[in-house]
Formats: sequence, C-alpha cells, structure tokens
Amino acid sequence: MSAHTTAAATTAPSVESADPACGAPLPVLGRDVTVPLVTGGEVTYAALDYAASAPALQRVWDDVAAYAPYYGSVHRGAGYLSQLSTDLFENSRVTVAEFLGCREDDQIVFTRSTTDSLNLLAAALPADCQVFVFETEHHASLLPWRDARVTYLNAPRTPGEAVATLERALADRDPHGPALVCVTGASNVTGELWPVRELAAAAHAHGARIVLDAAQLAPHHPVSVRELDVDWIAFSGHKLYAPFGSGVLAGRSDWLRAAEPYLAGGGASRKVARRADGGVDVEWHDSAARHEAGSPNVIGVYSIASACKALTEAGFENLVAREQFLIRKVREGLAEVPEVKVLSLFGDDAPRVGVLSFVVEGWNSSHFAAALSAEYGIGVRDGLFCAHPLVRTLLGSDPQTQGECGAPEAAPGEKSLNAIRVSFGAGT
Ligand code: PLP
Repeated sequence: MSAHTTAAATTAPSVESADPACGAPLPVLGRDVTVPLVTGGEVTYAALDYAASAPALQRVWDDVAAYAPYYGSVHRGAGYLSQLSTDLFENSRVTVAEFLGCREDDQIVFTRSTTDSLNLLAAALPADCQVFVFETEHHASLLPWRDARVTYLNAPRTPGEAVATLERALADRDPHGPALVCVTGASNVTGELWPVRELAAAAHAHGARIVLDAAQLAPHHPVSVRELDVDWIAFSGHKLYAPFGSGVLAGRSDWLRAAEPYLAGGGASRKVARRADGGVDVEWHDSAARHEAGSPNVIGVYSIASACKALTEAGFENLVAREQFLIRKVREGLAEVPEVKVLSLFGDDAPRVGVLSFVVEGWNSSHFAAALSAEYGIGVRDGLFCAHPLVRTLLGSDPQTQGECGAPEAAPGEKSLNAIRVSFGAGT
C-alpha cells in the first residue's frame, strides 16, 4: 500500500481524537483485541464496520451471562425457570415498544432480523396491495415485495425529490386498494438520513401505509414510531449492539392479525383439532405470537431489550454526538486526499449517521479494504453492500456490472465497481 499510504493514514480515525465533550464510548466486546499485521507486530483492532454488525455491548453480555443459568422454555412450561423466561421475553416487548416510541396498540413481533421482519410483512400484505419502494434500498427492503404489485421508484437526488417522486407515484395509483411504502431511515451505503416523516405524511395522504427499515437508523439515532408516524418499523439486534439471531417488526396489528401465520407451528396456534373429514382445523393467535411459531429465541430477545435499555440509560444523544464528531473527522481527512471520492446521493452537506462509503482513484476497493486490515488492523467493508442498484448509481457504473466483495474490479483508469465503507457506533 506504500504508494497510497497518505490516503490510508488519513482515513484511520483515532478514538483518542474524539471530542471529550461528546462523552465516552460504551464498552463493547472485542475492544482490546489485538491482530497481527503483515508488516510485523500487532495492533489493537479498530472495528469500523458497525453497519454490517456492531460488537455487542459489554452490558448486554453481562445481562445475558447473569440470566443464562436460568433460561428455560418460553410459554411452554410450568416450572420456575420457564415462567421466569416467559416474563423476561414478554417484558422485553414492553422495553422495545418504549425504545421505539410505539403506539399503545402496536404489536411487537420478534423475528430473526430486519430481513426476516420485512419478509414477514411482505407475507402479510392484504390481497392486491401495491408496494412502492425506491431502487436505492438495501436488498432486504427492495426484494421481499416481488410477489406483490411493486413499483420501483428511481433514485432521487435530494430528500425533497424523494417526497415528490413518491407523491407522484401514489397519485397515479389505484386509490381503492391497499398500498404500502417501504423506505430506509438511514442508508447503509451513504449513511444519509431519509425524510421519513415527510414520506410518511405523503403515504398517508394517499391512503397508503409505510414501513421503516430502521436497520441503520435505530442503532445510530433515537427513533419514535409515533413522531415519525410510520405504520411499521423493522430492525436487527446484531446492528443494535446485541448478538446475532433476533430482530423486531413493530407496528399496526390489523394486517398482521388478518394474515396467515408467517410460520405454521406451535406457539402460533391457539387450538388445533382433527376434523371429521380427517383434516385438521387450526385457530391461530391474534397476538404477536401468531407470527412467532416455534420455541422463541429468548436470549436474543432479552439481548435486544438489554441493548435498548443501555442506549437509553447512556443518553443516546451523547452517543449520537460522538458518532457525528467521528464521521466529521473522517470526512475532513478524506477531503484532503484528492484521489478519494465520498459517495453521496443527497450531496455533501446531507445529514448522515456514522456510515460513509468512498472510492480511491486508482485503487481496487477490495484491495484497499484488505490493505487497511492487513497493514493497519482497521476493519472496514468493501463491495456493493447489498444495495447493488444504489452503489452502481453512485459509481456511475453499468446496471449489469458485477462487483461484490472480492470480485474482479475495474481495470486501472476505469470507474471503480466496488466501494469501501467505514462505519461507527456506540463503541467507537
Ligand atoms: N436494511 C438495511 C438498511 C441494512 O443495512 C441491512 C443490513 O445491512 C438490512 C436491512 C438487513 O439486515 P439483516 O441482515 O440483519 O437482516
């Protein structure tokens, strides 16, 4: 990496450089992990890929360790441990509802992830539902609707254009049937914030509903379902400083109650009986349990609740301020390197969370990211970030080009096919 050391050195943020006024980071697992460098020796690993998966908070780990000896089956036992686990599981719904600023009658469904949550909602769409989604979405919010009547909206270049594009599309729709808009709160590529409240107002003005993909918003910014006036919200535990394997879909209960269960099985069914004709009759629950068939992931759910509490108790605004400080520092550093181009849909001054992608002229992004790891112990992500149409738009590349982590890159002098992403969080 010798010819380009300046770029790499400038991009390496130092935790020590954080503005003390922003407070301290929260302790996370892996903070003191050392990794070997190709140049010899070792260095403390700098995890700057929070947008992919954030390290678990130490507090979450401690809470889980304290509870683990006592965990038992949820909703499936009369014994003390089973009752305790059932209480923890159900109380976690209350904690998550508070964290998300949910309405009184919203349902909190525990899922495996944001992807799972959005697929659940897609499976629960009423008949003939029209879906509107920007092409700029992460694949988790772009793809689940393909069996519905889906309209893909072109990438807007300002937040105002996003609202106008949606309004035009909704004005043209069949006004009688149900409709759903799916939008991300913060881009996993650019970190840019989307005008969620305005998009929700546009959706509702045209009789549509809206689901917010908060996979990147919830870990980096306080969210309120009530204030944003979204109908549903989805996020993943592993991006919110909890371990893998659990997620949330929260929001209106009517579509969920009217739908067939996402999975058929125990826990979702209230009554099952053989019929005289040899078949089986089932009565499904109306509550969130309808879509939570099978033995629930009580540790995962408890971890999410623990993370929600930890963020709230630490003062989420302080964590956001710190993250903003760090991302500003990185931007200033990158601006000094002429070969670097930061990717942006809404322009340089657009508000963003602590997520940023860039390309370095003359560099294969995958090689660049590999060199950051091997030579500096800095963990970032390279590729198209599961948002292929968006990244290709930002790079100006052919919509059909390949280019994912480790894939062949553009030849020297050609446009880069991949990008490099750096992202921060409560532990940086
Ligand atoms: N939505 C956005 C904006 C994301 O960044 C991601 C993951 O990167 C997802 C959805 C999918 O999250 P998960 O892989 O946890 O289901």
